[in-house]
Amino acid sequence: MRQPLEAGETTIARANHRTTYPSRIQLVAAMNPCRCGMAGEPGFTCRRGAKCASDYQARISGPLLDRIDLRIDVPAVSAYDMIGYSAGEGSKPVANRVLLARNIQRARFEEIGSNCYTNAAAAASVTEVISKPDEAGETLLRDAAESMKFSARAYHRILKVARTIADLDGAERIGRIHLAEAIAYRTSNERLAAAA
Ligand SMILES: [Zn+2]
Repeated sequence: MRQPLEAGETTIARANHRTTYPSRIQLVAAMNPCRCGMAGEPGFTCRRGAKCASDYQARISGPLLDRIDLRIDVPAVSAYDMIGYSAGEGSKPVANRVLLARNIQRARFEEIGSNCYTNAAAAASVTEVISKPDEAGETLLRDAAESMKFSARAYHRILKVARTIADLDGAERIGRIHLAEAIAYRTSNERLAAAA
């Protein structure tokens, strides 16, 4: 799975044959926080303690996890939560927001003579050019990279996500707030494991 996630293509090599297929994918996956499925629930402690979540989450390999950019904790919904439930934002306004952000990206890539359309597809060298954070953002990124020991891949992926969050915001420069959100998406499961 790593090759299609990374390069958008799959190469199959046999004795004297080598074929490459296009395979651009968007991976969406879900998992329980721990073996009993309850870690992180308010007022609940796993019988096996913190190991319940850390052992379970360690079953996803580091290299695969490193390629997943947006990790979100989804708390369980109780019956109580359903009372007085009101539907959130509809799909249409969200789709419009995405379209606007994609148009901004397309125009930016055209301007610098790049042939890609989205931040996600940009090469690392291009990402560095289009994702220069402001001063406060750069400080945050440097501190986070040092304390959390980001890989080079993680660093570029955080920049891409921050660029996209800024585009959704209509902001030209990537600010501290955009980087903070991008970093939070990458580290949410680590926080959960620590909290369990
Ligand atoms: Zn558990």
